[in-house]
Amino acid sequence: MRLKDKTALITGAGSGIGRCTALLFAEEGAGVVVNDIDAEGGQKTVEEITQAGGKAYFIQGDVTSSSSVEEMKRIFLKRFDKIDVLFNNAGISNIGALHEVSEKDWDKLMNVNIKGVFLMTKSFIPFMMERKTGSIINMSSCAAEIGLSKRVAYSATKGAVLAMTKAMQVDYAPYQIRVNALLPGTIFTPFVENYLKNAYENVEEALNKIKSRQLSGEIGKPIDAAMAALYLASDESKFMMGSPLYIDGGATFGKDA
Ligand code: NAD
Repeated sequence: MRLKDKTALITGAGSGIGRCTALLFAEEGAGVVVNDIDAEGGQKTVEEITQAGGKAYFIQGDVTSSSSVEEMKRIFLKRFDKIDVLFNNAGISNIGALHEVSEKDWDKLMNVNIKGVFLMTKSFIPFMMERKTGSIINMSSCAAEIGLSKRVAYSATKGAVLAMTKAMQVDYAPYQIRVNALLPGTIFTPFVENYLKNAYENVEEALNKIKSRQLSGEIGKPIDAAMAALYLASDESKFMMGSPLYIDGGATFGKDA
């Protein structure tokens, strides 16, 4: 029960890493507020948590829209009187070298992956500031640190999230709020499945290529990232501030050649 009596809000928790983290947080005693733009996915996460005996509540919302985020806050405040953990996890990707990325796709990516973190934090951090406590986890990626082919726009967003994390930490340290970033390598989720299908003709070959850039020789699982998020959410990481937590099978720092 590492999150006993804590309230955690997770964006993009209707799929992949977000869903897995929501289930784990609930198992560890948190009341989990599941957000996603996709109602079906979000509700499924809540059902799974409830069936396992945990506490969860779904709030549909689009993290890129200030009116939607305000509405989320209104609904949140009707049911909850505090927030201990905000996991800014919602994110999307696209593929292409810089000259291949359309302006529309560029803007969409910046909106979800960067503006989403800005709007959600702006709306919910005042409740942490009031109580002088809280942990914010921003979803970055090892793509913020290493050059990956055809990932320029995505890497730009995740680099921005890492930079925001450090600056946010300085501003909110006086409120005893911790802000850290999670930097996963490739974790097998619908996000990666779609990326592989769209970017490669031979998915098996692509999977092997990705596996080989991680020293683990394996693709990560959502639970690998969820366990790292649990550490950042819990008081066990109380001395960790403004830091990146790599959970990447060695992709960032290792090179086996
Ligand atoms: P996923 O596609 O399985 O889940 C992402 C969820 O975010 C989806 O349910 C989607 O509906 C939701 N979402 C998208 N736009 C939204 C919006 N505007 N408002 C609210 N919700 C929205 O992806 P995942 O692999 O679980 O990725 C989760 C996060 O982890 C993303 O930020 C991603 O960039 C990051 N990440 C993933 C990997 C990986 O290999 N899977 C690696 C590093 C970082």
